[in-house]
Amino acid sequence: MGGTERGYVNDAFESNWIAPLGPNVNGFESDIESFIQSNVHAAALSSGTGAIHLALQILGVGKGDEVLCQSFTFSASANPIVYLGAEPVFIDSESYTWNMSPKLLEDAIEHRIKHYKKPKAIIAVHLYGMPYQVDEINQIAEKYDIPVIEDSAEALGSIYKGEKCGSLAAISILSFNGNKIITTSGGGALLSKNKDHIAQAIHLSTQARDNAPHYQHSKIGYNYRMSNVLAGIGRGQMEVLQERVDARRSNYSFYKDSLGDLPGIKFLQEPAQTYSNRWLSCILTPSFEIREKIRLELQAENIESRPLWKPMHLQPIFKDRLNYSDGTSEDLFNRGLCLPSGSNLTKEDLLRVVSIIKNIIK
Ligand SMILES: *Cc1c(COP(=O)(O)O)cnc(C)c1O
Repeated sequence: MGGTERGYVNDAFESNWIAPLGPNVNGFESDIESFIQSNVHAAALSSGTGAIHLALQILGVGKGDEVLCQSFTFSASANPIVYLGAEPVFIDSESYTWNMSPKLLEDAIEHRIKHYKKPKAIIAVHLYGMPYQVDEINQIAEKYDIPVIEDSAEALGSIYKGEKCGSLAAISILSFNGNKIITTSGGGALLSKNKDHIAQAIHLSTQARDNAPHYQHSKIGYNYRMSNVLAGIGRGQMEVLQERVDARRSNYSFYKDSLGDLPGIKFLQEPAQTYSNRWLSCILTPSFEIREKIRLELQAENIESRPLWKPMHLQPIFKDRLNYSDGTSEDLFNRGLCLPSGSNLTKEDLLRVVSIIKNIIK
């Protein structure tokens, strides 16, 4: 926590706004809007997963529809497609940003149009805070007139060509889960420049109650709105967001300066006009064996590290779904490792990690 969260939470207690609405919810939404800019409006929700679920519904995804989803991601990007009875179609990554390959995306669209029907939406992810190739993905999306959902769960604070992640698609989502760059313990947001999308998100997230004096419903709704208590935490966290980004970026620089010259160790570089929040610092090692050696030796020193996300097309639950892949994310998964990346790591912590890796690679 940054320190001021408790004040906002106390306000909620003192005013007795202990509900999924209230001044902190409104305040948190306007804090997010002023941070993201670009005329984006926000709806604060109970999770990023819920935000994706609502985004898909707002874009009209339903039973039998196909949704093109980045394969190299956390399962929460894809699960809501299945909640709706729709079909995920997984798209592999390119090695430049580790995110959705524009080429494979277009191949998949052409192929699905030819053999089934036009996919209903695209879910692209700024994995580990690194912006995907937004211009290229948006050009393809426009060419075929398919809306994009921008999964910005890991990328709050990242920037692409002067615009904040969270403002780069028809609908964007954020997560404030405990492991993200800032947190409300659990929480999320749906963002859009289209006010009608936000009105729909708020309606659906509050049980889809019609405007009537009694309880009346014309649609199936959800209980997905954010608590006013947790939004208080969010307001305090927004005040330290840039500090957190600076801390994460400085972890990355430290690792890169210390390990970047070791044979075979590679880092994901920022492309021109791109600013990553460096949510996690990741390395690519020469082989699965070396990756595991590093991971296990860190573990022996009680230091947690973790392989990169296991691609969705390789997950047991999704193995029978369609995928358009060329081995890129599978290779990243086999050789990549997320190093300790917390915003509160000390220089000594970082030095311990670095010296263990140097001993293995030297
Ligand atoms: C964390 C995360 C989500 C889900 O957010 P929750 O708030 O945990 O539901 C979605 N996509 C990605 C890429 C994530 O990392």
